[in-house]
Amino acid sequence: MSAQLFVVATPIGHLDDITYRAIEVLKSVSIIAAEDTRTSAQLLKHFNINTPLTACHEHNESNKIDLLIQRLVNGENMALISDAGTPLISDPGFKLVRAAQENGIRVIPVPGACAAIAALSAVGLPSDRFSFEGFLPSKQSQRLLHLNRLKDETQTLIIYEAPHRILDCVQDMADVFGADRPVGFAREITKTFETIKKMTLGALVEFIKNDHHQQKGEIVLVIGGATVEKDLEQEKLDQLLTRLLQDLSVKAASQLAADLTGIKKKVAYQRALELTDKA
Ligand code: SAM
Repeated sequence: MSAQLFVVATPIGHLDDITYRAIEVLKSVSIIAAEDTRTSAQLLKHFNINTPLTACHEHNESNKIDLLIQRLVNGENMALISDAGTPLISDPGFKLVRAAQENGIRVIPVPGACAAIAALSAVGLPSDRFSFEGFLPSKQSQRLLHLNRLKDETQTLIIYEAPHRILDCVQDMADVFGADRPVGFAREITKTFETIKKMTLGALVEFIKNDHHQQKGEIVLVIGGATVEKDLEQEKLDQLLTRLLQDLSVKAASQLAADLTGIKKKVAYQRALELTDKA
């Protein structure tokens, strides 16, 4: 009988954020595959969990998979954890989960903390639609290319960034997205020096420059989406869509508005939906 693979979220700072179910699962499985066994040993010790750990990280995941899958196939229940938060979210685990599925093993999520979602829930920017971008490229030239591709995205963007790159990264965002774009800065979530702020990208550059403490710890950036296409004023687009929506479906009205004005169909469609909701 194949066993089960539990994908278990662990705290991102405050240890009380572990769930009852996570502790139960971690106690009950035969083995825990962890990103860093030394980091996870401390967590297990804190909760009196004596389950053996085995390393499964970025560098050995491919080689380790066969061994781990074999143990699952032999009937040993297994948990997968990362150093903090939800495995697979900018953390290893995807290859193991995919291999488990391919081998007919049931994969069971045990949800909990995730820095991206915690940040989004508290910074006060639109949360109905968002795009999780993970870490941006560390090289500036590639980061700028990436940011330029994201410039017209209307959804809220969520980005993880390392503290030593935060100032350069926010400066590049201000240059590409504009200094007036709103941003949420969520640092050290659930920890002693938790800092949650919302301001403009221009103001955030100054805030980080003037306080070196803000260049330490773990950071999530939540960036407000682009508002409208620059070449067409919102009011004119609204007028056109409102008229078209009197006779046409959202899809047809946004297609026609996009054809007539040259704005992206996606942008027209999103605005048409918003106008329909308001009506
Ligand atoms: N799997 C994790 C999750 O579910 O959020 C993310 C792991 S990723 C390797 C680490 C990054 O997540 C950090 O560089 C930071 O951007 C973000 N992060 C993790 N913990 C955080 C915290 N307590 N406060 C702010 N950001 C955090």
